[in-house]
This record gives sequence, structure tokens and C-alpha cells, in this order.
Amino acid sequence: MFRYNPEEAGAFEGDIILPPRTRGVGEKLKAARWTNGIVPYMMKPGDFNAGQEAVIVQAMRRLEQSVAINNKLCVQFRPKIATDKHFITIKDGAGCTSSVGQNWHSVKELTLGSGCIHEGTIMHELLHTLGFWHEQSRPDRDNYVTVQYANVQKGLEHAFNKYTTTVDTLGTPYDYQSLLHYGTDYFTSNGKPTLVPKDPLAVIGQRNNLSSIDIQEVRLYYQCIGSSGK
Ligand SMILES: [Zn+2]
Repeated sequence: MFRYNPEEAGAFEGDIILPPRTRGVGEKLKAARWTNGIVPYMMKPGDFNAGQEAVIVQAMRRLEQSVAINNKLCVQFRPKIATDKHFITIKDGAGCTSSVGQNWHSVKELTLGSGCIHEGTIMHELLHTLGFWHEQSRPDRDNYVTVQYANVQKGLEHAFNKYTTTVDTLGTPYDYQSLLHYGTDYFTSNGKPTLVPKDPLAVIGQRNNLSSIDIQEVRLYYQCIGSSGK
């Protein structure tokens, strides 16, 4: 009926597998950070063809290079080895979903249905994997966007939850251009907007690249730069 965004299918907040306790922008729990910024992964055998695997790996390389500082990697995705205690399983399934962070949620899965094999969409999910939540769940979001609940599909209002505790905005400003920001009509029941920027010039929901603030947040969260930004 209305524009179908594959991120909308399935889980809590559309594409996040709900963890037991916590919420946020940068997940506050230190345990959510992948050790040394390294995310071991396993692709479920038989789930992807060679072309799809190539797109997934290319999305990993693009995210790594976007966040790298002077060619030094800040976060890294690599195939799991026998000694890895934590790793993420990448598999086919319904919609595009990811668990958030490293080791405080028992199942760590990144599901990429056939509609999800695009670099920008995969990088969005990989940011969840790294420990990040949707931009519009920030505690200060009501200063920047209005949720039009009357247009939201019944029963999916929770997708627009705002978190005031257990989250860390890392001192960065609200970012309409974030790869983790919803678009204007996510979860719409009637084709009308569900999320309206207060800045009339703002465009939300891009799925092309990490924004400069997304990059800054990953670098801060993984302590590749200090809080002064250097
Ligand atoms: Zn998402």
C-alpha cells in the first residue's frame, strides 16, 4: 500500500531486537561495546549468494573506512575464529533487524532479508550491531521532531519511544542527517507523515552514508578520540 521500507518489518522499533533491560542512543552499558572495536561475524552457510555476500562485506568496509582515522581502523568487522567468545550471526530472514551491542544480550543476530541487501541499509543495521539506537529516540528529540501518533499504525506506537535513561548522546547534537534517523512516513497507517522535523528544511531518513555526527559518535563510543573531539 504505502512505501515499504524493509527496516520496518519485524522487531521492536522496527528493526531492533529488544534487549532485556536497556534503551538508548549510544547504549550506556560498557559491556555493549565490542572489545577493542572488533566485531567477529559468521554468515549463516547457504543464506546468501556470492553477490549478496560481497555487498554485505563491502558495507562493512565502507563503515570501517568512514570511521577510520588517518587509515587507522577504529572499528572492524571480521570473520569469527574459534577463540571468539562473542560474535554476530548474519542470516537471511524477515526484514532487516539487528541486536544492539556485544555481550549483554544472549542472541546476537543480524538479519538481512532479500530487500535489505543495500550498502546503506546494511550500514544502518551495523550501527545497531555496534551499540547504537535510533536517532529519534534521543531524550531531546521533542525539540527537533514531532511524532504524529494519529498516523501511526495501531500497536506500533512503541517504535517512537523516547529514552531518557540508560542512553548516552556522547555530547553530540541532534542529527537529522543520521543514518539512524527514521524517515517521515515510517509505520504510517494512512500514508501521512508520522515524524515531522521542526526545522522545515530538514530532510530525514537518508540511507546512503554515515553522517559526520554518526562518525563522531562511533569514534567517541569506541574511544578512538577523546571527548574533546581530538
Ligand atoms: Zn534501525
